Amino acid sequence: MVMGLKADSLNDPGDLPHLKNLSNIRDREDQEEVKMPRKIFIFDTTLRDGEQVPGASLNAAEKMEIARQLAKLKVDVIEAGNPISSLEDFESVSSIAQEIKGPVICALARCVAADVDRAGEAIKDCEKPMIHVYIGVSDIHMSGQLRKTPEQVMKMAVSSVQQAKSMCHEVEFSPMDAARARPDYLYEVIEATIEAGATVINIPDTVGYAVPEQFGQLISDIGQNVPNISKVRLSVHCHDDLGMATSNSLAAVKAGATQIECTINGMGERAGNTALEEVVMGIKTRSDYLDAYTDIKTQEVMNASRLVSRLTGFPVPPNKPIVGSNAFAHSSGVHQDGVLKERTTFEIMNPEDVGLQESEIILTARSGRHALRHRLSELGYELSDEQINRAYERFLKVADKKKEVFDEDLTAIVEDELPSIPQTYYLDYIQVSSGTRFVPTATIGLRKGDELIQEAAYGDGPVDAAYKAIDKITGVKVELADYSIHAATKGKDAMGAVLVRIRDNGHTFIGRGASTDIIEASAKAYVNAINKMLHGTK
Ligand SMILES: [Zn+2]
Repeated sequence: MVMGLKADSLNDPGDLPHLKNLSNIRDREDQEEVKMPRKIFIFDTTLRDGEQVPGASLNAAEKMEIARQLAKLKVDVIEAGNPISSLEDFESVSSIAQEIKGPVICALARCVAADVDRAGEAIKDCEKPMIHVYIGVSDIHMSGQLRKTPEQVMKMAVSSVQQAKSMCHEVEFSPMDAARARPDYLYEVIEATIEAGATVINIPDTVGYAVPEQFGQLISDIGQNVPNISKVRLSVHCHDDLGMATSNSLAAVKAGATQIECTINGMGERAGNTALEEVVMGIKTRSDYLDAYTDIKTQEVMNASRLVSRLTGFPVPPNKPIVGSNAFAHSSGVHQDGVLKERTTFEIMNPEDVGLQESEIILTARSGRHALRHRLSELGYELSDEQINRAYERFLKVADKKKEVFDEDLTAIVEDELPSIPQTYYLDYIQVSSGTRFVPTATIGLRKGDELIQEAAYGDGPVDAAYKAIDKITGVKVELADYSIHAATKGKDAMGAVLVRIRDNGHTFIGRGASTDIIEASAKAYVNAINKMLHGTK
């Protein structure tokens, strides 16, 4: 029997005697057969667990952009960050809490008074606030990390939930490493924290150790053994170390859980978190088996995936379920033939349901400003008139070199022309000479305000030479941690999109640049990263 759904919650036909027998039969059937689809809450933690990934490094404006997309996607909860971890994180959570309407905005805290205070402070002006407190409850976490007895841990959990409750109504409690905890102790902690005011209990498989059947069993055992469990929403948070995060989450749903914590593209610690797109499409596609649904606007899934990939600089592998570029591509002749005759022969999902559509409009040099604005707004960019003018100017230059301008080109243009931070330096021109017989040299002109600064340098290759010339101009010494280039679209005339990561004092800054000339794209990306560093944002 599915938890939370009791026969007595269905309409009772009342005292009509002639219906009594029928009603008894129906009651029995209700218990065995009738299953109402349950709503599964989607708790997105891309901005917290996802952002913890080394090298992801999102600045406040980028986090806000992701939060807006999550609201469009209609997630139920956005975990916006861990306010005590830094002033930057505090401010980012607080501005998301004030601006984003629709989803609940959640702030994370350890079971420590100062953490809970800071979390409460960050979400105090939110329409629908939530505080999420957590503490390790497995023996290995309690003795190995916390150095506390089970009784002490229980006390910390209860008092933190009470403290959080005094600041906002919605309080989620996570017994960390629950999948490896002693069940009896776990039940006690859950019961006590519900008593203390928790409205959501989240069961994390923190280290990605669980196996679906066993994890499902844990969820139903909690349902059976915690007397006050029906007062709260039961949630799960799975990691993908063994590739079982989605399976574990869905097994938990089958066993009665009504919330899944997840991230876009499965971003997260180590092998990552549960992928939002996988569980959402899993629930949608197999609602026949799971008797469940979510409120997610699935047509926004692709936009969310692309946005997160672009801002974090982590590409999505082509074979990634749902959002990979090959996820809906059929290469075998038999499959292609089948799909052309009848889509459902080899397709279990409709690509349009995840927001994948053949772009009907391809822009060319003849396209007007209006067409550009229209297409950009479909891609999720709402630009001011001045921004449109700048994007249009750039668009014409690109359209001049390439005949057709695709969505990916437009994304690259907008990214390039409308950086989220002030531009201390702006690439005015670049000239390189290289070849098998020359020492590669680069001459660079950067604008700083009204001033044009020029330098030349040589290097191991044209990009290296360009970067050395830029270093001479800016005078900052940075470590180039990562450099990658990919074609924004198919074809020989595709724009090259370059991503660099530079490191300074333990902070990582991501820079991006795009151009039909890859050396120019490389220089732009480097200047972009340096601007971010000078602006002091991650
Ligand atoms: Zn996690």
